[in-house]
Amino acid sequence: MSNFYKWLREKLKWQALMLTILALVTTGASLYESSKSSTTSTKYRYAGLPSACVCEKCGYVLENPTKHCPEIPCPRCGGRMWRRK
Ligand SMILES: [Zn+2]
Repeated sequence: MSNFYKWLREKLKWQALMLTILALVTTGASLYESSKSSTTSTKYRYAGLPSACVCEKCGYVLENPTKHCPEIPCPRCGGRMWRRK
């Protein structure tokens, strides 16, 4: 009987390993797919919010924005804001 449990445990161990590998491969593939389509989707290249945005027209600097720069119109001239490098 103990042999059976030993066998079962080994079997489950391998199954868990296979499932982990499968999950990793699936996650990796979906991540690759999403990164590939990120240029056409609304996703941003940067995950976090920037420390500051700069207006491309007048150079106005907005510190610690609450949204991504392209979503914020310049408070001074309404121009497009870009992440400060
Ligand atoms: Zn501006």
